[in-house]
Amino acid sequence: MPEPITTRDRRRAAVIGAGPNGLSAAITLAQAGISTNLFEASATVGGAARTGELTLPGFHHDLGSSVFPMAAASPFFNSLPLGRYGLRWIQPPVPLAHPLDDGTAVLLEHDLAATCANLGSTSDAASYRSLLQPLIEDWPALCREILGPVLHLPHSPLLLARFGLYGMLPAATLARSAFKGARARALLAGLAAHSVMRLTTPFSSAIGLVLAAAGHTTGWPIAEGGAQSIAAALAAHFESLGGTIQLNHRVATLSELEPADAILCDVTPRQLRQLAAVDLQQHHRGYDRQLARYRYGPGVYKIDWALSDPIPWTAPDCGRAATVHLGGSLEEIIAAEAEPWKSARGSGRNGKGSDAPKPFVLLVQPSLFDPSRAPAGRHTAWAYCHVPNGSDVPLAAAIEAQVERFAPGFGDCILARSVMPPSDLEEWNPNLIGGDISGGAMTPRQLLLRPTPSLYRTALPKVFLCSSSTPPGGAVHGMCGHLAALLASKF
Ligand SMILES: Cc1cc2nc3c(=O)[nH]c(=O)nc-3n(C[C@H](O)[C@H](O)[C@H](O)COP(=O)(O)OP(=O)(O)OC[C@H]3O[C@@H](n4cnc5c(N)ncnc54)[C@H](O)[C@@H]3O)c2cc1C
Repeated sequence: MPEPITTRDRRRAAVIGAGPNGLSAAITLAQAGISTNLFEASATVGGAARTGELTLPGFHHDLGSSVFPMAAASPFFNSLPLGRYGLRWIQPPVPLAHPLDDGTAVLLEHDLAATCANLGSTSDAASYRSLLQPLIEDWPALCREILGPVLHLPHSPLLLARFGLYGMLPAATLARSAFKGARARALLAGLAAHSVMRLTTPFSSAIGLVLAAAGHTTGWPIAEGGAQSIAAALAAHFESLGGTIQLNHRVATLSELEPADAILCDVTPRQLRQLAAVDLQQHHRGYDRQLARYRYGPGVYKIDWALSDPIPWTAPDCGRAATVHLGGSLEEIIAAEAEPWKSARGSGRNGKGSDAPKPFVLLVQPSLFDPSRAPAGRHTAWAYCHVPNGSDVPLAAAIEAQVERFAPGFGDCILARSVMPPSDLEEWNPNLIGGDISGGAMTPRQLLLRPTPSLYRTALPKVFLCSSSTPPGGAVHGMCGHLAALLASKF
């Protein structure tokens, strides 16, 4: 007979999935003195924070995430000695460049005044300053509010109220009401497009404002050596606390795990329904129905390039930023970001021809600032656009056309490319359902109450969700895992 858990001298926990949130949950449990085993399906830790040679030998590509404003701002990551395990942030001179068809680029500079000066008009500069200055001044407090527990008494109610006043607006409305000129409007549209929401949807401004404020404070760093360095540092710290990691171990059902006082699942609701199918269907049908109703958002269509040279931008300023937004004007970006919400088959996107789509493209060129990414003199670049969930419509040509638009001659620099449509992304990492990189749609309701009103708690005793399908949602910051584990460790 196995010994009952309660008579053991040490509490035990299991974590399923070694993405940034699974690793953060595991560290938090280990910090509480709980004996913690982490199970990961892949051969390496990191989930969507991994790096590999996707194209040619010596070219190291971020397979998922690549730029880390929220990791640099994360109160949990900042409490850990990750530098001791080799994590080094590289801050490009400019967080973000947004080229326009007139051959110039709007820049989100670290310096607020410098950003205001390139917005094209004094009135837009004044509006930008009045929107951002309060968020910048109270940035650590804002991070605690938006990355902290959903249900809490605000520590900075005035700041939160001011942020909410503008953040709850559709980005299209905020851009048109706050700014008169094309430059500031385009900048805000590109920032807000990270929300993976239609820009006409309430709350689509919020992520844009947070990312702008991050640009002026913690920056938009890349990790030296790639995203894998973040995961490797988290894993090394976890192991230093006595935790164990089992790689190549895909958990098929919760019942295969040894008895534990808590099980934390770095998976999305659809996977939890598979991991505990019998239990949920027999004993917790109401909760199972809630999980089934959870909505996944648009997917992404991703390309990585090995390049012979730096991208030949028309606007030379684009070479000062790791992140470049390719989508032109506010109106174009609004239209582009509405497309992924249409059905995959009815979207009319075919990637070529006169009706070829102009997707909004997020591009990262890390090797300009981190020579370890490519052989000497060579370069890497990474890009994606949002597409309908699970869409298999080829978009590589449309993405490359957007790069050519702002960097004629780009095609001549391509040595090799790797193309990952949503189905390939999901095959690589089962959490990327239909290519959704946020762990679920960022609808106004699911921004806060994800995946169900009980958040991290499931209907299953001792079983918790801790992935980006829980608050505060997508991006590499580890806060979903940390907050879930704080709750779980109170047994
Ligand atoms: C293409 C792309 C670009 C992105 N860009 C950025 C960016 O630039 N900046 C940013 O901050 N964020 C970005 N993100 C989002 C960010 O990577 C995710 O929000 C973050 O990785 C979520 O962490 P997670 O731990 O919740 O899940 P994941 O990172 O998805 O990790 C989940 C892990 O669980 C494992 N797993 C799942 N099921 C099982 C099972 N049954 N048994 C064992 N293991 C299992 C998976 O193999 C995986 O390793 C991007 C994501 C993608 C895909």
